[in-house]
Amino acid sequence: MATLIEPGARTLDALIEAVGSAAVLTDAATRDLVAHDVYAAGRPPLAVLRPVSVDQLARGVAAASANGLAIVPRGGGMSYTGGYLYSRGDFILVDTGALDAIIQINQTDMTVTVEAGCTWDALHRALKPLGLRAPAWGTLSGLRATIGGGMSQNGTFWGARNGSVADSALSFDVVLADGRIISTGSAFFRPFGPDLTSLFAADTGAFGVKARITLKLVREATAFAYGSFSMPDHQRVLGAMSAIAREGLAAENFAFDPFLQSQRMKRDSLAKDARSLVNMMKSQGSAWQAIREGAKVVAAGRSFLKDVPFSLHTIAEGRRQPAVDADMAEIQRIIAAHGGTPIDNSIPKILRANPFPPPNSMLGPEGERWLPVHGFLPHSRLVDAWQRIEALYACNAEAMQRLDVRAGAMLAAVSRSACLIEPVFFWPDATNPLHRAAVEPDHLKTLKGFPEGLEARALVDDLRQQIIDIFRSMDATHLQIARTYPLKAAHHPAGWEILTALKRAVDPRGLMNPGSLGLE
Ligand SMILES: Cc1cc2nc3c(=O)[nH]c(=O)nc-3n(C[C@H](O)[C@H](O)[C@H](O)COP(=O)(O)OP(=O)(O)OC[C@H]3O[C@@H](n4cnc5c(N)ncnc54)[C@H](O)[C@@H]3O)c2cc1C
Repeated sequence: MATLIEPGARTLDALIEAVGSAAVLTDAATRDLVAHDVYAAGRPPLAVLRPVSVDQLARGVAAASANGLAIVPRGGGMSYTGGYLYSRGDFILVDTGALDAIIQINQTDMTVTVEAGCTWDALHRALKPLGLRAPAWGTLSGLRATIGGGMSQNGTFWGARNGSVADSALSFDVVLADGRIISTGSAFFRPFGPDLTSLFAADTGAFGVKARITLKLVREATAFAYGSFSMPDHQRVLGAMSAIAREGLAAENFAFDPFLQSQRMKRDSLAKDARSLVNMMKSQGSAWQAIREGAKVVAAGRSFLKDVPFSLHTIAEGRRQPAVDADMAEIQRIIAAHGGTPIDNSIPKILRANPFPPPNSMLGPEGERWLPVHGFLPHSRLVDAWQRIEALYACNAEAMQRLDVRAGAMLAAVSRSACLIEPVFFWPDATNPLHRAAVEPDHLKTLKGFPEGLEARALVDDLRQQIIDIFRSMDATHLQIARTYPLKAAHHPAGWEILTALKRAVDPRGLMNPGSLGLE
């Protein structure tokens, strides 16, 4: 009797022939790991393609698609919106982790070109000694999150005054589904005609695999001022944040609600904080001041947050200390006008000292599961959105209490004209392989951990969806669209037609990350 050859096995042979066996991983542990993101699980891929060169990536993608297999890109795996989770059929997952070179830092033209798997942290470490950085220079997950992931799902935190990370992009080299490599735009100026770079940005991998990325560079700041404030309520914290953003006074301008603050107080290690602060200041050449600041952090402890309703944190930066101090004075004036008062400023200082900490906060202080959801809104709609989300929690208070589902929120200004509201859920539930791989082993050991909490997870699912619906009803926008945020519903039908036509042009057989962006 003839032996049946699985179609998957035949395709793997073709893939291995195209790229060599070292770049094709088929072990169960690797396939299981990449079948989980921070929140959910998908089907394990047939194999993981881990190329070490762009040429090898292109050959692998061409071989997979020639054999009718879907291709799903993954960077650092630090997302929670299902962008690299696929369950409809067999597929090859592309892991860009070994494409991590910094190809060229061009100080004459103020550009940097990296491979897509380079992390924000690695780029920061390479640029810092040169006094350079990208305008928006990464996400807090940047120790593991890649620049390719950032460009593909967009992101924000560091340098948010300059916009989101996709605003730092000049051009991409993208491997299309058939293996062709195209370059978008020009490597030093954008837009050059209709903007292909923009079309491929924030696509959550639906249009191709980004292989190389060229970013703008700016001079790193050399003068800093930090301010933290206690704010009495949501209206006034949002009002102050918007006023600071409109004036462009802070490079970073973000806030925590009381619950997220309490989580932070439980979570962080003062000794670690003091160490990173001392290291940063020493690297800037001020050893005595470093020791003084480290001691201050320990002395302040976390008690300064105890009776604080909302805390707002700002970092002013520039090239001249008097100018930066003047910006901070103006921030203080705005805060006072909104009923805020200064508190110890160690939170922004510590964050700036260690901008890309280990991603241990993907679990709660006792090992609870963690899930953020977010929306960007113009300043004029923030308070309304906040109140609608609070009303949703009030309607669900009994179930949330019974299942121990807690909700906090982070707020952050991004550019001059928008702020982000990011509700964050914590609930008792088991960890998944991604958490166990990404959280530091020493930290993991200190966590109590929980058994599976399916009922609580279902409630979180439902609350997340209702928050997305609230944001949709208010015309909010989002990062990380992937398989979670509704893009089609947000578009005029003619605009959506353009996007689907683009998808057909770059991926006629619908094999590139099918379903991402809601495009089949
Ligand atoms: C602890 C923690 C902190 C975080 N902090 C922030 C924050 O401060 N700001 C913020 O915005 N987000 C934050 N995030 C969310 C997330 O880490 C970021 O959005 C980050 O940009 C994801 O990058 P990644 O390389 O891990 O991408 P992945 O999770 O691997 O992939 C994300 C999406 O991009 C696609 N993709 C990845 N690489 C490529 C490529 N080369 N070509 C095409 N498509 C690709 C994938 O298919 C997927 O759809 C945080 C997450 C965690 C766990």
